[in-house]
Amino acid sequence: MRDQLGRDIEYLRISLTERCNLKCIYCREETEYCQAKQELSLSVLTRLMHIFAGLGITKVRLTGGEPLVRKDLEAIVSMIARIPQVRDLSMTTNAQGLAERIGGLHRAGLQRVNISLDSLQEDRYRRMTRGGDLQKTLAGIHAAIREGMIVKINAVLVRGENDAEIDDFIALARDYPIDVRFIELMPFCTLSAADEKRIAGQEILDAHPELHPVAARYPSQPSADYQAQGFRGRIGLINPISHRFCRCCNRVRLTSDGKLRMCLGQEKETDLKAWMHHNDEELLSVIRSAIFDKPKAHEFEENFHATRAMNQIGG
Ligand code: SAM
Repeated sequence: MRDQLGRDIEYLRISLTERCNLKCIYCREETEYCQAKQELSLSVLTRLMHIFAGLGITKVRLTGGEPLVRKDLEAIVSMIARIPQVRDLSMTTNAQGLAERIGGLHRAGLQRVNISLDSLQEDRYRRMTRGGDLQKTLAGIHAAIREGMIVKINAVLVRGENDAEIDDFIALARDYPIDVRFIELMPFCTLSAADEKRIAGQEILDAHPELHPVAARYPSQPSADYQAQGFRGRIGLINPISHRFCRCCNRVRLTSDGKLRMCLGQEKETDLKAWMHHNDEELLSVIRSAIFDKPKAHEFEENFHATRAMNQIGG
């Protein structure tokens, strides 16, 4: 459906849980406690998905927290994959434990995976994720590629943490047929709110004049893509702050506790749980008017203070 600014809203990101097996330093505080009790059940998700599909959602990404911590993930994937309007079904994951489940997820209907990988060095990976095992994520990446899935790598750059590895990440896109996307830090916890930690994509381009722009793979793509001679994959720069792409934003988010959030960088949410005892028509009308009112742009640069960490919203 169209929002008040004429943007076609066709993309829903569903956060299945705020729980995560990692605690990435830029995502949330070390001491944050996560719980499962607010999570939307398979039957609630099924009802909501049919309503969203009726409103024109054709593209769905599962995220969290970490979607792999949900034991019913395969059943959720299969439910969404069977909805005829949904043409694109993907997941964002840290891939810890993905290798064992990728076959089942693929068979259930998952088409693509974006895998978070912030360092190619074991110690740094463990430090940035507060306990993650790099080998498990690499095994997940290899398993997904073997499975024939489209794989993209997401790296959040944090100055003083992993910026020394930018060249190594770029080399991945040179040597393998995968896209590596550098995501600009957004302010969702103490560390990520520090402006001096943010690395804008332009800094990468200045250091790598060999990278030249290539056409986007699809119109509302958030990343600006680059390649150099001989590259098998692409480098994508996702710069929500230094190069905001709100004008072509086509997405809304459903949080794991049932809130519809129209913009990552605006706190306003509509509590769909409060409407679950209404009939489908009333629920649809609440969702429709929330989407219609989707804000014009994020407020990251206007004294934005996140009340929820990224894992609680769904990145
Ligand atoms: N657990 C999954 C994962 O690690 O990919 C999915 C959830 S995670 C919150 C989704 C995405 O949000 C990841 O690519 C992560 O790197 C990104 N992210 C988290 N906090 C961020 C921040 N402060 N700024 C930019 N991206 C962030």
